[in-house]
Amino acid sequence: MRDISHSLASGVTTAAPTRFSDVFDPNSGAVQARVALGDRAVLDAAVAAAKVAQPAWAVTNPQRRARVMFEFKRLVEARMDELAYLLSSEHGKVIADAKGDIQRGLDVIEFCCGIPHLLKGEYTQGAGPGIDVYSMRQPIGIGAGITPFNFPAMIPLWMSGVAIATGNAFLIKPSERDPSVPVRFAELFLEAGLPDGICQVVQGDKEMVDAILDHPDIAAVSFVGSSDIAHYVYNRGVANGKRVQAMGGAKNHGIVMPDADLDQVVNDLAGAAFGSAGERCMALPVVVPVGDKTAEALRAKLIPAIDALRVGVSTDADAHYGPVVTAAHKAKVEGWIQKGVDEGAELVVDGRGFTLQGHENGFFVGPSLFDHVTTSMESYKEEIFGPVLQIVRAADFEAALALPSQHQYGNGVALFTRNGHAAREFAARVNVGMVGINVPIPVPVAYHTFGGWKRSAFGDTNQHGMEGVKFWTKVKTITQRWPDGGVGDDNAFVIPTMG
Ligand code: NAD
Repeated sequence: MRDISHSLASGVTTAAPTRFSDVFDPNSGAVQARVALGDRAVLDAAVAAAKVAQPAWAVTNPQRRARVMFEFKRLVEARMDELAYLLSSEHGKVIADAKGDIQRGLDVIEFCCGIPHLLKGEYTQGAGPGIDVYSMRQPIGIGAGITPFNFPAMIPLWMSGVAIATGNAFLIKPSERDPSVPVRFAELFLEAGLPDGICQVVQGDKEMVDAILDHPDIAAVSFVGSSDIAHYVYNRGVANGKRVQAMGGAKNHGIVMPDADLDQVVNDLAGAAFGSAGERCMALPVVVPVGDKTAEALRAKLIPAIDALRVGVSTDADAHYGPVVTAAHKAKVEGWIQKGVDEGAELVVDGRGFTLQGHENGFFVGPSLFDHVTTSMESYKEEIFGPVLQIVRAADFEAALALPSQHQYGNGVALFTRNGHAAREFAARVNVGMVGINVPIPVPVAYHTFGGWKRSAFGDTNQHGMEGVKFWTKVKTITQRWPDGGVGDDNAFVIPTMG
């Protein structure tokens, strides 16, 4: 049995692990490896090494730090195939999608190649008589990232790229369900010239997460995962005086106006609802046709499109999507489908009981379609995170706008229309953090920022872009005066004003 362990600075030793978690091959259902579950002692060792390494990295000039990013990008690109297969073998997403997962992370590394420019501070000459004011962004010290299973490359790179480029030491705690790719990234960072100890991987579950949240030398924690855990991480981290950003779950809606191009919508929806087996926080699991005529036409086109979907092993180049991540997750998704039936929604296409010949023990779930889903149903309120699309019919634009706006989650939303005015109104008024206009999965590019609203995010800064730079740095503002030899005539007992 292959063991997956931590990736700590060289020379750091820890006791042999006593707890492990199984890592499955979702295609076959077999256990392919086990990952060590670390504890406070492992974390202490990693933090101690980070503390030694970080001061020198912080004063390494930003151009040199950027060069590590350039080289890391080159190394990952050169190993794209190997990394995508590794990722796919633990997660179950198809290879092309695994490459997309890595590429979206590399986009953030590309952004970090510009870190010298991004870290330039502000300057005001002559803010008062002989007084200049300037600001600088300094690293927070040691940061940690806790990541979910569904983007095992992109999300670790969202965090590690910006945290490291801004001069911090960074510890990553990957999902115990697919922990290998971040280990490879840590090795490649080292190969790219990053000093030992600046990027380390600590493996584990809740015990390690709690150790991170309680560790006095970790200044900032970035979390992405489900909402209840995100809320918990946020509360505990903040109570311990840390800076915390914690992204949570989602239930994204696609609103289809009567004037939308339905063929385009169906094509977009098939990918956005079922791609990666629906295990994306920016998936579109709810579609809201406006008016019954739109609903009937959309439904008529969706059924054959869903029937045409090919579910296959993740290495099948023709498969639209592969298995879900674990047997437990498959059972959870199928449980939600039953719940939808029990609640009175119409199950138009039933994906339960799907098996793939030759891979009968794989964690496959066929695509499902529900119609006549209502807002009072638990299966609407909660995140299913599987290949299940729910139709919620709305009478008009206002009713459709209210659905995502009033939902507990507010990660992403999409509007499909040809009407510019409706699109403009929608973008301005919808109570959701990331909006697509005829774009089904509006994940912002790396130099913008990623983050939802409501229970989709706790804390006040987004991932990557300038928000990421702000999260991983603290601003220092200097007000300086160089005496010209005379004794000032200011009254030192009055709060200084520039008047
Ligand atoms: P998860 O919440 O189960 O796990 C996320 C991380 O938290 C993992 O590293 C895990 O080890 C840790 N963890 C799990 N249980 C814990 C506990 N009780 N205490 C402390 N730590 C714990 O999430 P997941 O199933 O890996 O990922 C899927 C979820 O992530 C979905 O809800 C999805 O919407 C969300 N997600 C959100 C975003 C976003 O940006 N908003 C992006 C991707 C995924």
